Amino acid sequence: ATPVALLVGTSRGAQFGILITGPEALEHAHGIDVVVLDKTGTVTTGTMTLGTVTTTDQAALHIAASLEAASEHPIARAIVAGAVAGAVAGADDSPLSPVTEFVSTSGLGVTGTVDGLRVVVGRPRFAAEHGCAIDQTLADAVNAAESAGATAVVVGWEGRVRGVFAIADSVKPGASAAIDRLRRLGLTPVLLTGDNARAANAVAAEVGIERVVAGVLPEQKVEEIRRLQAAGSRVAMVGDGVNDAAALATADLGIAMGSGTDAAISAADITLVRSELGGVADAVELSGRTLGTIR
Ligand code: ADP
Ligand code: MG
Repeated sequence: ATPVALLVGTSRGAQFGILITGPEALEHAHGIDVVVLDKTGTVTTGTMTLGTVTTTDQAALHIAASLEAASEHPIARAIVAGAVAGAVAGADDSPLSPVTEFVSTSGLGVTGTVDGLRVVVGRPRFAAEHGCAIDQTLADAVNAAESAGATAVVVGWEGRVRGVFAIADSVKPGASAAIDRLRRLGLTPVLLTGDNARAANAVAAEVGIERVVAGVLPEQKVEEIRRLQAAGSRVAMVGDGVNDAAALATADLGIAMGSGTDAAISAADITLVRSELGGVADAVELSGRTLGTIR
């Protein structure tokens, strides 16, 4: 495409809330055939709420919320919001405890010291890796949450898991229609997430995505993009999180949600200001029109 055509395309995009980092980004959109979508915050609203709480220790919710107060993750916000009195059974008004030695492990969970205890909050697997065993009641709660399409987050300390939180998220309005549009443009949508397979499949079914890759760590998101590219696809990646940044940079076209983290936005070629999935199809169409005009 000529520089002029690309500039025209770029400024037209801006009118629709499609911010393009440089004129060549529209050329990257050319020939895309697979669109990989992050789940949380991209296909879903990312505004999570705390549902069923199952604990074997009265302090579990308070301790988890204290630790999560140091995290920016939407799951952390749900747990902190849920810990105020009246939100869920077992919540009280005691002020959150201070946290020291806080460490956040992208895609897995958080650890830190709360009330003198070494606490872990995150995926059941992450708690297991930190030496926390889970008893049958809590394992059943993990199962129940995941079967219901929720994300099961556990809290543990001193060798035991002591609480399970079912965290729910909802699909963005317009997500199904946006996926439908992608398919009509000849693009294959793939859902890629660090969340558990059952929660991922529930969201995929709701929006009409057939291919799902779940339970992946941030570096595995990159590997999945590379695998698709090695199989001959030109891949667009759509994401919002710190954990999506490397995959956004690796994809042929990286698209960030405007509501996303700075890391995602700076790694992407395009930012969707309105954070609507329909913007993905808009961007692909804009690129096609821009490149088409000069041929
Ligand atoms: P996604 O790929 O859907 O955006 P992430 O990679 O951010 O999800 O997180 C993957 C999983 O890691 C979450 O579903 C959750 O189980 C766990 N996790 C990540 N951060 C946290 C946190 N701060 N607290 C609890 N769990 C977390
Ligand atoms: Mg995300």
